[in-house]
Amino acid sequence: MTTETFTFQAEVSKLLDIVAHSLYSHKEIFLRELISNASDACDKLRYQALTQPDLGPDEAGFKVEISVDEKKKTISVADNGIGMNHADLVETLGTIAKSGTQAFVEHLGKDGSKDVDQIGQFGVGFYSSFMVASKVEVTTRKAGEDAAWLWSSDGKGSFTIDEATRDSQGATVTLYLEKDAKEYLEKLRISTIVKQYSDHIGIPIVLKAAKDDETDETLNTASALWTRPAKEITAEQYKEFYHHVGHTFDDPWLTLHNRIEGALSYTSLLFVPSSKPFDLFDPERKQHVKLYVNRVFITDDCEGLVPPYLRFLSGIVDSEDLNLNISREMLQKDPKLKKLGAALAKKVLAELKKKADKKADEYATFWDNFGGVLKEGLYEDYDNRDKLLGLVRFKHTGGDDLIGLETYVEAMKESQEAIYYITGSDAELLRTSPQIEGFKSKGIDVLLMTDSVDEFWVPSVSQYKDKPFKSATAASTDLSAIKDAENAEEDKKDEAPAADMDTLVAALKAKLGDAVSDVRTSARLTDSAVCLVAAEGGMDMHLERLLQQHQKLDRLSPRVLEINPKHALIKKLAGLAGDDAALEDTAFLLLGQARIVEGEPVSDPATFARRMAAVMEKGL
Ligand code: ADP
Repeated sequence: MTTETFTFQAEVSKLLDIVAHSLYSHKEIFLRELISNASDACDKLRYQALTQPDLGPDEAGFKVEISVDEKKKTISVADNGIGMNHADLVETLGTIAKSGTQAFVEHLGKDGSKDVDQIGQFGVGFYSSFMVASKVEVTTRKAGEDAAWLWSSDGKGSFTIDEATRDSQGATVTLYLEKDAKEYLEKLRISTIVKQYSDHIGIPIVLKAAKDDETDETLNTASALWTRPAKEITAEQYKEFYHHVGHTFDDPWLTLHNRIEGALSYTSLLFVPSSKPFDLFDPERKQHVKLYVNRVFITDDCEGLVPPYLRFLSGIVDSEDLNLNISREMLQKDPKLKKLGAALAKKVLAELKKKADKKADEYATFWDNFGGVLKEGLYEDYDNRDKLLGLVRFKHTGGDDLIGLETYVEAMKESQEAIYYITGSDAELLRTSPQIEGFKSKGIDVLLMTDSVDEFWVPSVSQYKDKPFKSATAASTDLSAIKDAENAEEDKKDEAPAADMDTLVAALKAKLGDAVSDVRTSARLTDSAVCLVAAEGGMDMHLERLLQQHQKLDRLSPRVLEINPKHALIKKLAGLAGDDAALEDTAFLLLGQARIVEGEPVSDPATFARRMAAVMEKGL
């Protein structure tokens, strides 16, 4: 057979170009990535060998071997894992399968040197070899197959595949080192790197003797990290393990290592990241909690192990009480797995609660990253709803910190019946919304909700400790029942006379016609002249806008225009109420202004501009 030549997928070429020219200072991570792949390959074969015992070595035989050739200037990482056949090679070592990778490559292209350390997160670990090598070869044979293959590339746009020979299953990756990467031929350097990054790997990583007077040396502890007692594991070791399972390179925000003995015994080692993974909202995203049964890797895509609202978790769960001898599909239906999932969720929520109660600052960081995801649980996980309600935090008008529901309800005024909130896309803009001016002046705290999931969980939960959630922009919101700090009678003095206001309201209604559902005097405004609120029983205004943006709604429904009887402009208008000519333009300008404050376009910009010019001219 002759040599076959393939071109890399365009994104891979781009990525390789960036990787090869990167100034990234931790190039040694290539070794971590290759060892990680080798260990994964052994995990996969160990699982297959459960049903096909003649496929692989016995349990004790799995290992990773590193060898160097001083003359050829090569370093090789060999494993006796699952291996790859021709189709696997073309598919996995020429493309990037993971969703979102293209976006990452574009992002990297802008600032190559800085962000290359995120490489592992994107499942492009193998390609990091080209940071130190001018040529990479992979000799491999798939378990259960006879043919072996040699994959080879200089990383410049194409790769070749030839037939090869290999005594047994597995893969050997050989790197032809660049001139400035000779340090990776040194025994001490290799051993330091392995100890730093790969000590947690559960199988031996052996450095082969390079000279006659040397012996093979196992470089790592070679027991799965989670099986070791927590007190013997350093923070650094946990971190490296987290990098390995999570394909992330930040520090873990929370590390949970537990051993549970009981009807269902298991060990879990779970991490909450300290930064937000780029693909958290990608529907194709795989979860990052790996399932092991008695130290045998089963799957890293186990539906039902952790609920979707905890999908930011990464780590492993290892249970000896699950059945090893059934298929992955059967295992997913095992009621024990459901129990295990429920126990994990309970544990994680309890630990989050501890942080929320004792370390509010740290919890705020977590909340900023994952609050939007955790809130999905409020409508997805009825059993844990109360626990989750204790964990939600909000920005609010009453302060710059985050507030929880318990604190909010405790601080409520005696006559306040509801938990008030306002939804929108930007908390800082929401703070200045006219609809909540009255709340602020009465000292009533309003929760600022800016995640799209808020539109779903609030109606589904509907209340907390018997207090209903109520939108501050709903028409029915009545502030007059809440006792004011200031004297209400005193307040009234500043208002336009009620009779004038009635005339003005009627006149505005007549002018605006179908453009509004109603016009009324407002009790919620203090500084602004006007604002819009949703019609009685109507959809929340922010939700309507979201639906319109996503083309789920043709147009926004007419709202209620509220006018402020204390505002100088409205008072003046109330005095002129009978004067039709003055009102024509003003009515539409007021409505337009209320829309602009909401971040909505005015319905007819040309007419709006003409009206504004006319009114300004009169004013000069
Ligand atoms: P990731 O490991 O995140 O999937 P890589 O780019 O490192 O990304 O590897 C791509 C794929 O190539 C792996 O998912 C695996 O299928 C295959 N692969 C890499 N190294 C090996 C190996 N030593 N043995 C078998 N398959 C491997």
